[in-house]
Amino acid sequence: GFRGGALDIRDLTVGYGGEPVLHSVSFDLRPGEIVALLGANGAGKTTLLRAVARLVRVASGTIALDGADLGQVRTEDLARRGVALVPDGRSVVGELTVDENLRLAALWRHRGAARERAVNGIYEIFGSLARRRSSAGHQLSGGERQMLALGRALITEPTVLALDEPSLGLAPLIVAQVMGTLRETAASRGLTVLLAEQNVTSALSIADRGVVLNLGRVVADASAATLANDTHLRHAYLGF
Ligand code: ATP
Repeated sequence: GFRGGALDIRDLTVGYGGEPVLHSVSFDLRPGEIVALLGANGAGKTTLLRAVARLVRVASGTIALDGADLGQVRTEDLARRGVALVPDGRSVVGELTVDENLRLAALWRHRGAARERAVNGIYEIFGSLARRRSSAGHQLSGGERQMLALGRALITEPTVLALDEPSLGLAPLIVAQVMGTLRETAASRGLTVLLAEQNVTSALSIADRGVVLNLGRVVADASAATLANDTHLRHAYLGF
């Protein structure tokens, strides 16, 4: 059966040339867990996801997947190791149809009939994408685009999925739909999810745990219920 990966982030320090943006950040994701990565604008959420995806240079510290250090793994090999990133701003190719977008994402993972099955598997998760299979990426609504970006990540059968603000620009009802699908998919596949969000309420509604960053440091790491009920923490770091 499916089993999510365990991700262990230890003493991670990352900067962009000058001052560090992340200061010795440590937390872990247990297999199958959904962890919300929270914090105000500029707290360092995107930088942390980029470090996991090996898109920024890590100054010090380690990121380990199932106990194996990812330090020497190249970005292009990361997907084969089971780590998929859904970047902020989406990964949909506007000129290609929904179907082509999914096939392209599945190219290296599945061939022939297996690729068709994988594409159909995504349509089973996202019924609205199936109805839009011949539409170009740029014709999709914001919600459909986000679902396609998610579908493109899921079709590679990751064990760890990292998402940067999937709620960005979506209407509340669509956010709820995307979050619900994420929760169901994670549960049915045993997928481990790192969910960076400004939308704290939505993220905590599906997360098992939350990690709060402030100015590049972990200021809280607790169950979703504990964080949702912590008024002081919410006021101080989460803006509500
Ligand atoms: P947001 O939700 O606004 O994306 P965030 O929590 O994801 O916020 P980051 O985008 O990781 O935060 O940014 C953390 C800090 O790093 C900010 O001070 C930002 O200005 C800085 N930063 C981000 N990207 C770069 C870059 N390419 N070069 C220099 N500084 C950067």
